[in-house]
Amino acid sequence: MTEKFAADVLICGAGAAGLALAIELARRGISFRLIEKMDGPFHGSRGKGIQPRTQEIFEDLGILDRLVAIGGLYPSERRHREDGSYVDSDATDHGVSSAAEPYHLPLMVPQFLTEGLMRERLEELGHRAEFGRELIGFEQDADGVTVRLMGEAGAETLRVRWLVGADGGRSVVRHVLGIDFPGKTLGVRAIVADVILTGLTRDAWHRFNEGNMARQISFCPLAGTGMFQIQGPIPLEGDIDLSAEGLKAIVAERTNRDDIHIQSVSWASAYSMNARLADRYRVDRVFLAGDAAHIHPPTGGQGLNTSVQDAYNLGWKLAAVANGAPEALLDTYEEERRPVAAAMLGLATKLLDALKRGDMRRGREVHQLDIGYPESSLAPEQPSRVGGLLAGDRAPDAPVRGAAGRAVRLFDLFKGTHWTLLGYEVERGAVRPRRDMHIHIFGPKGDMLDDEGHFRDAYAPAVGDWILVRPDGYIGAIVTSGDMETLETYLAQVGLGLVDTGCN
Ligand SMILES: Cc1cc2nc3c(=O)[nH]c(=O)nc-3n(C[C@H](O)[C@H](O)[C@H](O)COP(=O)(O)OP(=O)(O)OC[C@H]3O[C@@H](n4cnc5c(N)ncnc54)[C@H](O)[C@@H]3O)c2cc1C
Repeated sequence: MTEKFAADVLICGAGAAGLALAIELARRGISFRLIEKMDGPFHGSRGKGIQPRTQEIFEDLGILDRLVAIGGLYPSERRHREDGSYVDSDATDHGVSSAAEPYHLPLMVPQFLTEGLMRERLEELGHRAEFGRELIGFEQDADGVTVRLMGEAGAETLRVRWLVGADGGRSVVRHVLGIDFPGKTLGVRAIVADVILTGLTRDAWHRFNEGNMARQISFCPLAGTGMFQIQGPIPLEGDIDLSAEGLKAIVAERTNRDDIHIQSVSWASAYSMNARLADRYRVDRVFLAGDAAHIHPPTGGQGLNTSVQDAYNLGWKLAAVANGAPEALLDTYEEERRPVAAAMLGLATKLLDALKRGDMRRGREVHQLDIGYPESSLAPEQPSRVGGLLAGDRAPDAPVRGAAGRAVRLFDLFKGTHWTLLGYEVERGAVRPRRDMHIHIFGPKGDMLDDEGHFRDAYAPAVGDWILVRPDGYIGAIVTSGDMETLETYLAQVGLGLVDTGCN
């Protein structure tokens, strides 16, 4: 008899990773519960930088325009000198937007506003996070996971097919699984505080004593709010007074100014910086995502972005397997995401060292647009292809036109939960349609027109090529018309095999 589960997935933790995963499952109709031990939403600004690649993902999830509407761009950085003068500079390499990369500027949105929009999107999809409900233990067997929860209404035990620990750096799920979290403590402790203050303008990110770890302090005007985010290193040991009075004293001592008045503190925290990576992201039916799997210094604004992208990678795979795709698809989550986190830990630590010296510059690498999965078992080798895109690469955008005349972007064609198969000068009937895959054809009698050549520039297709784009916007496979068997094998591997209707 088939076992009846309370839900397919239990997501533990309603931070950025848990919410992104919940949206991904909700829009695919997969049953899940999202629990959060806190009684209400987190209200700190912490992860305020939304990188261009995450903007593309938020566009797909349906919240990018709302995010831009409530957030803003980073202002220039103002380095204040001892004598009261200052110099403004732009510490971020912005690049330029292009047809292939529509977003090139990191957005600033305080984390509590981003998470608020994600909850709003989740509600539109008919789901809510359950606050005040804590995971206190679990056991798994071959068929499912038995989880124990505690909340105001008392204890609850339920059976789910999969458990995802999106429960932050101190992850209970990681501890119960006994997964090691090796790495290092970076010897830096810092404060972060969201405050209302007077005495500083809102047109710049004010920085004092750059390069001096004992006296450094910065004030970033938080877009979408009237607050500033204060950040600064503090001694490794000892209590820190995070009240308005306590912060005022630190500010006066470090800036030598008596005109900066902290009026109120909305959220504040003192934390030690670590760079750690979980040895494994999965033990059978239980997964780790977000800070539960990797923690690092905030330099470069990578943590929330990487956490959302973990969930974006795991979500479609869990949904596919819940709907009958081979279980092996789930192995590709750790295979693809763990190397990304390892590289990101190196980057954030390198930027922290630069910050200590007072010469941090954030380049293209923080934008996360070059992340890809070329080594993945979901990225078959293409020995015949020289140059251009390869399987595992991010699928670029391109403005094109529908045959009926309307302007459309490739990202519009990708938007949603389906796979997309793009054919270039191919025969339409060569691939049978199937559920969850949209087919578009460029070329004579195609439904898509590439008048301005943006598709050709970005994808460098050869005549007869088929390009398969995954639901998370990475290239799954590129095959020639002479190699349709490879495409069919690939589609079966990801759960898109042909259904025998008995009508053929
Ligand atoms: C000063 C600072 C600046 C930062 N700046 C940036 C930035 O610019 N860009 C960026 O990308 N990142 C930034 N980050 C990092 C970012 O905040 C984190 O990476 C992000 O919050 C991780 O999201 P998460 O969902 O994985 O974990 P969390 O946000 O930690 O969420 C985990 C949730 O799980 C809940 N939970 C834990 N245990 C249980 C349990 N047993 N049962 C139920 N619920 C549980 C917790 O209460 C929590 O709400 C910054 C961090 C700091 C400290």
